[in-house]
This record gives sequence, structure tokens and C-alpha cells, in this order.
Amino acid sequence: MFDVLVVGAGPVGLYLGALLLQEGLSVRILEQRSEASPHSRAIGIHPPALAALDLAGVATAMAAEGVHIRDGVARSGGREVARLSFEQANPAWPFVLALKQARTEAILEARVLELDPDAVVRGFCVTSLNDGGTSVTLSGTHGGGGQNVHFQGRLVVGADGARSTVRRLLGIPTAGRDHPDRYLMGDFPDTGSDGSAAVLHLEPGGIVESFPLPGRLRRWVVHTDELLQGATAEDLAGLILARTGAAVAAEDNSMLSAFGVRTRMARAMVRGRVALVGDAVHEISPIGGQGMNLGWLDAAELAPIMAAALQGNPTGAVLRAFERTRMQAARAAARQAWLNMALGRPAPASYLDVRHAGVGVAFRLAPVRELVARRFTMMH
Ligand SMILES: Cc1cc2nc3c(=O)[nH]c(=O)nc-3n(C[C@H](O)[C@H](O)[C@H](O)COP(=O)(O)OP(=O)(O)OC[C@H]3O[C@@H](n4cnc5c(N)ncnc54)[C@H](O)[C@@H]3O)c2cc1C
Repeated sequence: MFDVLVVGAGPVGLYLGALLLQEGLSVRILEQRSEASPHSRAIGIHPPALAALDLAGVATAMAAEGVHIRDGVARSGGREVARLSFEQANPAWPFVLALKQARTEAILEARVLELDPDAVVRGFCVTSLNDGGTSVTLSGTHGGGGQNVHFQGRLVVGADGARSTVRRLLGIPTAGRDHPDRYLMGDFPDTGSDGSAAVLHLEPGGIVESFPLPGRLRRWVVHTDELLQGATAEDLAGLILARTGAAVAAEDNSMLSAFGVRTRMARAMVRGRVALVGDAVHEISPIGGQGMNLGWLDAAELAPIMAAALQGNPTGAVLRAFERTRMQAARAAARQAWLNMALGRPAPASYLDVRHAGVGVAFRLAPVRELVARRFTMMH
């Protein structure tokens, strides 16, 4: 019998596990993968999430390894449309941190294992859940042999991602929609002169975004008309060159991925002795890079409530407030992601000229720049 069972050793499950272990609770994080995923998804860590990661003692290590993005620049047709500084958004963390998700997860897992070397159980796929009222039993298959194993916890958290099994087993429905936008992204050596700035190229053919990464790399994300699943690094380099004039070395590409986007929200975050956090609750378009950050902020609020509940304190009202405020935060993030996507869709050059002239005028006002910088850094 453990105090808390967390399903999923993604960034959110690992972070929550670290916070709960720090509270002195007994925790097992059950993960279906036998090894950590090498795939590169999230790279952007925003100031509120850095403050939350600091609670688990990992923000300094991440900040030492990642690139500090202090400026965002919007360009169109080779001209600068707007420039934002992220330095004022949060004086304690005056930047957006760029770090590949695999490294973020490795730092979080190392912290968890420092607190309890046995806390992460890999190769365990949860397939059934039984909430008995005073404890919850999770069953599933473990290891290559597929033997059936049971874990019992006083509380359970599903941090098992967008296709959450825990959410399905609880019978919690989701609502949302698929967006028309498609993207092709890839990492290339950074040979340009943008330093550590994030750059948005707002072009008639669709947006091209680029973000610095550790190791003098840059991640390029290009809006495409359709899902270019079979695209090559040469195809991506060609799109970048045609729209922005920037030349990237296709032969040195180190990651290539085509993806579509959708928004999905669960109808509830808490059912009996089980809660959901992260993508299991809210799948947000990655344009704007908020999904992982949102999940960490769920976990930072949930951990002390769980610790209080395990000490026998009444937590019904706090849990309802938690669910309400975190769902509001997810909806706000989804609206911001929708706006980010809309701004990056293909549009006639004449329309973009007018729009960007208006943006240029508005951005001369310091309060406008501050408001937009706060929105882009999740400082709502
Ligand atoms: C291209 C792209 C770019 C992105 N960029 C950003 C960004 O810059 N910033 C940002 O904040 N977000 C970004 N995101 C979103 C971010 O990747 C997700 O929000 C984040 O990974 C969610 O973390 P999670 O821990 O909730 O879920 P996941 O990362 O999906 O982890 C869930 C874990 O649960 C495990 N699991 C699932 N089912 C079971 C089961 N039955 N039993 C045991 N284990 C199970 C899985 O194997 C997995 O390890 C991006 C996403 C994409 C696709």
C-alpha cells in the first residue's frame, strides 16, 4: 500500500512524484515504457513553470543547461514587425527557457530517484482501476513476460497523457476539436545571427517559427497546407528558404517531424480517490508551447492538497476550487494557442501589410508590449 500511485512518467508525472516524495509520502510512478522516450516534443519552459520547478529543486539545473530566450521578434517580408522582451514578465525568471523535453524529463527523473531510488516502476502498463472507497487498486501487465501485477494506493493520479487510460477507466468524457493547421518541424545547426531570440516569420505562405536550443541548434516550425508525413529535411529547408530567405543545412538535420493539432478537455479532473493532471486533462495545440507548463502548474497545486488529504484534513472544497481554476487556466491556454495558430495561417501579402502596420503602431506603446509579453510567457 502506497500513499500515492502516479500513472505516467512523463514530465508531469515525474514532477508531481518529486513534490509528493518531498512531502515524505510513499510514491510509485508507474510507466508503461521500459525506457524514457527520446522524442523531442516540448522545448519551451515559461517563467511560472520555472518557479514551480524550483519547488522540486530542478529549475537551477534546467536553467544551467537550457538557452535563455529573453527576446521575441516578429518579422514579415524581411522587415521587423515587432520586438518583445520577456525580461520584465517575471523578475525571478526573466526568460523563457529552451530545453529539449528528453533532457527535461531526465533531470526530473534523476530528482525523483534521488528522493527514492525505487519510485519509478518502468515497463508497467496500467489496464484496470478499482476505487474501493478507502484505497485504489491498479492492475496491469509488467515486463516483457506480461505477468499481471497489482499496486494499491490510498490516492491515484493519472498523468498518462492525451490518450489517458486512467481517464477512460474512470469514464470521464472529453470534448474538443481538430484544428485545420498542420506543421513540419526540424532541428538544424544555428548558423544565423538571431542569437538566443525566438523569431516568428509571418509570411503569406504561413508562419515559420524558430527557437534556439542548447548545442547551437535551432528548431524550425513551418505551417503547411497538409500533413507532410513523408517530407525530408531538404523539403523543410526548402520551405524555410522560400518563405524567409534563411538557409539551413539539410544534411545536418537532427530531428524531423510532421504534426497536426487538436484541443481536447476532460469534463472532470477528480473522481473519488483519483485525480487527473497534464495532457490527460487538457491537450492543447503546441503552438505557443504551453501544454507541459500547464501540467506542471496542475501538479504544483494538487500536491499539497493530496498531502493534506492523506493527513485526514477535509479537502472537498479545495479540490473543487482546484478543478475550477485549473480548467479555467487550460481554457485560457487553449484560447491563446488558437490565437497563435490563427496569426500564423497563410494570408495575402496585402492583408499582412495592413495588419503588421497596425501591430507596429500598437507595439510602440509600452503597456501593449508588456501585455503581449505576459501572454506569451503564461503570466496571465
Ligand atoms: C510538437 C510538440 C511540441 C510541443 N512543444 C511544447 C512546448 O514547447 N512547451 C510545452 O509546454 N508543451 C509543449 N508540447 C506539449 C507537451 O509535449 C505535452 O503537454 C507534455 O508532454 C504532457 O506531459 P504529460 O506528462 O501530461 O504527458 P506525456 O508526456 O504524454 O506522458 C504520459 C506518460 O504516461 C505513460 N502512459 C500512458 N499510458 C499509460 C499506462 N496505461 N500505463 C502506464 N504508463 C502510461 C506514457 O508512456 C508517457 O510516458 C508540445 C507537444 C508537441 C507534440
